[in-house]
Amino acid sequence: MSRQFFVGGNFKMNPATQEQKRSLVKVLNEATIDPSVEVVLAPPAIYLLTLKEILRKEIKIAAQNCYVKASGAFTGEISPAQLVDADIPYVVLGHSERRTLFHETSALVAQKTRVAIDTGLSVILCVGETLEEREAGRTAQVVEEQLKPVIELLTPKDWSKVVIAYEPVWAIGTGKVATSAQAQEAHANIRSFLGKAVSAAVAESTRIIYGGSVTASNCKELATQPDVDGFLVGGASLKPEFVDIINAKK
Ligand code: PEP
Repeated sequence: MSRQFFVGGNFKMNPATQEQKRSLVKVLNEATIDPSVEVVLAPPAIYLLTLKEILRKEIKIAAQNCYVKASGAFTGEISPAQLVDADIPYVVLGHSERRTLFHETSALVAQKTRVAIDTGLSVILCVGETLEEREAGRTAQVVEEQLKPVIELLTPKDWSKVVIAYEPVWAIGTGKVATSAQAQEAHANIRSFLGKAVSAAVAESTRIIYGGSVTASNCKELATQPDVDGFLVGGASLKPEFVDIINAKK
């Protein structure tokens, strides 16, 4: 089965101004984009609706986070039900910045994934090891520990709503990209783990994308790897080179 190439842009808490946002949209709207690629942009919550209005319709929108409740006294949180009501199809969950800076555990990320899917969202689920964990030879173990609570809460059918983003923490925002061999090895391990822990069909069909200092100059090589089904892009998604990353397979 062939997996549709997927490129996500994670704006994080950028851009700083409406003007910067508009110029990014202009670049994307005027670019020639490979129509076979699924492209999803995750802007800050305040831009979700305006970006959806002004961006070309082939590009989908994702929230960068959501909560486990539909509504109520949860000041500052983002409701999955409100995202669905606003026709936002995706949410990023478990980004390393959420895990580290906002102390989100793998159990909470799994619960959020369950609720997001129940509510009607698709999930970009981020996993990845720190440099210390990699150097201790624990990459596969750490990633499996992050995936296990999610696997426990999802049925095999739910996995059609999940894209796994393998994002080594040491590569995020550092300029230190994983080599294509390192990415391929980690992705193949994740796929094999899905095969054992869920099913062969889910392992075969689930997209596993790479994130961590992807740029226009390293994306083509990474995209040649058989288990790299796309990218989650932070810094470079704010630049015109994001178009080259979307077109990495061309
Ligand atoms: C990210 O934020 O998910 C990310 C991969 O960032 P960057 O591309 O800047 O490393």
